[in-house]
Amino acid sequence: SDKSNQPVRSDRSGFVQVRGAREHNLKNVDLQIPRDALVVFTGVSGSGKSSLAFGTLYAEAQRRYLESVSPYARRLFHQMPVPEVDEIDGLPPAVALQQQRGTPTTRSSVGSVTTLSNLLRMLYSRAGDYPPGQSIIYAEAFSPNTAEGACPQCHGLGRIYDVTEQSMVPDDTLTIRERAVAAWPTAWQGQNLRDILTTLGYDVDKPWKELSKKDRQWILFTHEQPVVPVYAGYTPAEVKAALKRKEEPSYMGTFTSAKRYVMHTFANTQSAMMKKRVTQYMLSTACPVCDGRRLRKESLSVKFAGLDITEMSRLPLARLYSTIQPYVVKKTTPDHDHPEKAIVTQRIATDLTARLEVLMELGLGYLTLERSTPTLSPGELQRLRLATQVRSNLFGVVYVLDEPSAGLHPADTEALLRALDRLKSGGNSLFVVEHQLDVIRHADWIVDVGPAAGEHGGQILYSGPPQGLSAIPDSLTRKYLFEENTAISHTPRTPRAWLQLKDVTRNNLQQLSADFPLGVFTTVTGISGSGKSSLVSQALVELVLQRLGQHRNEEDETDLLEQEAPATLEGYIATGMEHIKRLVLVDQQPIGRTPRSNLATYTGLFDHVRKLFASTKQAKARKYDAGRFSFNIAKGRCENCNGEGFVMVELLFLPSVYAPCPVCEGSRYNAKTLEIKYREHSIADVLQMTVNDAYAFFSEEPTIHHSLHVLKEVGLGYLRLGQPATELSGGEAQRIKLATELQRMGRGNALYVLDEPTTGLHPADVEKLMSQLNRLVDAGNTVIAVEHNMRVLAGSDWVIDIGPGAGEEGGKVVIAGTPADVARHSKSRTAAYLARHLK
Ligand code: ADP
Ligand code: ADP
Ligand code: ZN
Ligand code: ZN
Repeated sequence: SDKSNQPVRSDRSGFVQVRGAREHNLKNVDLQIPRDALVVFTGVSGSGKSSLAFGTLYAEAQRRYLESVSPYARRLFHQMPVPEVDEIDGLPPAVALQQQRGTPTTRSSVGSVTTLSNLLRMLYSRAGDYPPGQSIIYAEAFSPNTAEGACPQCHGLGRIYDVTEQSMVPDDTLTIRERAVAAWPTAWQGQNLRDILTTLGYDVDKPWKELSKKDRQWILFTHEQPVVPVYAGYTPAEVKAALKRKEEPSYMGTFTSAKRYVMHTFANTQSAMMKKRVTQYMLSTACPVCDGRRLRKESLSVKFAGLDITEMSRLPLARLYSTIQPYVVKKTTPDHDHPEKAIVTQRIATDLTARLEVLMELGLGYLTLERSTPTLSPGELQRLRLATQVRSNLFGVVYVLDEPSAGLHPADTEALLRALDRLKSGGNSLFVVEHQLDVIRHADWIVDVGPAAGEHGGQILYSGPPQGLSAIPDSLTRKYLFEENTAISHTPRTPRAWLQLKDVTRNNLQQLSADFPLGVFTTVTGISGSGKSSLVSQALVELVLQRLGQHRNEEDETDLLEQEAPATLEGYIATGMEHIKRLVLVDQQPIGRTPRSNLATYTGLFDHVRKLFASTKQAKARKYDAGRFSFNIAKGRCENCNGEGFVMVELLFLPSVYAPCPVCEGSRYNAKTLEIKYREHSIADVLQMTVNDAYAFFSEEPTIHHSLHVLKEVGLGYLRLGQPATELSGGEAQRIKLATELQRMGRGNALYVLDEPTTGLHPADVEKLMSQLNRLVDAGNTVIAVEHNMRVLAGSDWVIDIGPGAGEEGGKVVIAGTPADVARHSKSRTAAYLARHLK
């Protein structure tokens, strides 16, 4: 049984005792785990690690804590469901440092997340150099987000947004009826404005460019808002006649020019979607008053070390450190008017540098305070939060972390382990879900969950000090931890041709040239911040898309407002494009932003399932077509929730939350639709199945079976078909995209670009993933993956090592070659780690 592997302890005081844990797939397990230790939870994806660490231990700690606070404060937390567990003893309060799922909702920056910006503002306010005669400014006035600080011209945005005829009417060959004025609202509002123009006598069926300049200007820019009779559904001639007869109108409509609509929506809407939509029709330029520095003149006139606060916020953290560091010891010339200034300077400088040291130790010295968090990877964000905790001096707390090594090169992982050790020696416990062997080896205690995923997992295979795991035959983790030779078998391939990038300038890349081999599997590696994403996910992808005339998906676009300034891409492709017919970007961006999209709909699998339901005798008798089985179409879906299965509950002062629909109980369908059964299961039952269950269930349906097979192969067998996109991690979203592409495969000459595809994968799952990637290459395609996993590097055909350092110290190709070439290179920080994985 589970208990037999537990060391017997008489002294239980140093332990957390868990009895009867049943959350998700956990099989009523008991275990004990030490406090004040680094405990690592291991096991294949879907085995139940997170259900134990987050769903049970963290959820219970949070529940107990929230019981002690007021109902009002309770609502400020993202509450976890109450866990299914009999009893937990000895559990300290917990802090979760989980990776962000889906898109982050709050807008923040590195400076605000770490609270370093507050300190810096204090420094400028109390210890800055003021121009003669200027009085002291409060700290808030150094923030562009306050009325005291914001530049009055651009309101702290640093950019001025305006509209032109070109920006609002992108295609002037269209008529107004054909939506020439693209910036106007769509649907009813758009129709309303068109009808008003008809009443006003404008020709809505003439191409825009043939309208008179005066008319075009009025429609786009007028401040007038005439209220006129509207005859909905009438032709222009009928409207004319109706006006003449003074016929009773459908209603009275108010006109709004396109500029007025865009500017008003931009300034006032609460909806990020609306704001994003109108931003498309605006042009932005740096604010001439503050020169893009976002603050008012008085604030910018205060300097420290010769820089204004915006310039300081735009330094990489490592440079910020070296700028502030001298003031920790430096005796500033005594200021007779402000004798306290020297002391304040030293105190704040000491605090700032101590915090910056932790960030640099965690490999984040290349970030700037101004960098907005949505442009960070989930791993970077988690390490930022971790660094903030290291300096918080809490003790007696459990930190629960989710794969903190994600996005880290092995050289960075060593720094991560030092930070974890510091938290531990500060008197805290660490519960970490991890796959990377270097982190697992560093553990004081391992909890191995398994043996497989979903219902085939959920047992505690082992709980104890690392060495003891070697005696557990069922553990898949054991093999990778203790066996020497776990190299992935591989026959090296030779490139078919080369894709040559020249003169790429972007972020920290300066006039960089890089050659990517075609027809093989390439990995791009380097420490965090060295420039891998800038080169691969940005420059390579954008240059290839440009040449192919393809665009990025709407889903992949980050909020236009998050970009400080539109990045211009410099560089070109010299050779190789003739070998690329298609680019497929398989990244970690969410596959959808609402619960409406899910695993089954995204992969196209659901179309086949719906057809199957429509082909049953019962459905045919009732004349139900495949559309009936879609929760996006009125016919078959639950009317109360419009097929979402959830209803949105608005909370005062808080982001809204989703709750299961009371009418369909979350099934998404109306009762009539649910009466149709395929092999005794309704369409809603199918959405509840895991990929593994469905694989068995649809064994007689080759198309569906094949799709499910591919999903299993990329390590997603444990996911439910109806799992909402909003609940998926970045790694899961990426593997779903990959599986979708694998189903379509076969055409050849495609370029696949992946971003750390092993995120969230156990070493055993990594092997499956590799064989899928190899299939793509064997079918005549090219795969380029940003990756840190040395087993994957060792199993690839070509390695490009970016570096040597991060930020300004990186951005170069240190070496490119076969894994063996790279492993021998003396300047490469990857070499030593890679060498261990080559036979
Ligand atoms: P791991 O962390 O080991 O990858 P998880 O604990 O996330 O595994 O998942 C274990 C099992 O519980 C899987 O079968 C998964 O599909 C299921 N599961 C996870 N989250 C939920 C949820 N919110 N609702 C229902 N089942 C879930
Ligand atoms: P890696 O992928 O190797 O971790 P990146 O390409 O993300 O590295 O980053 C390289 C450098 O470019 C870093 O100094 C980083 O701060 C900077 N950088 C990356 N993306 C952005 C961005 N969107 N805005 C500003 N700077 C960026
Ligand atoms: Zn300004
Ligand atoms: Zn419903």
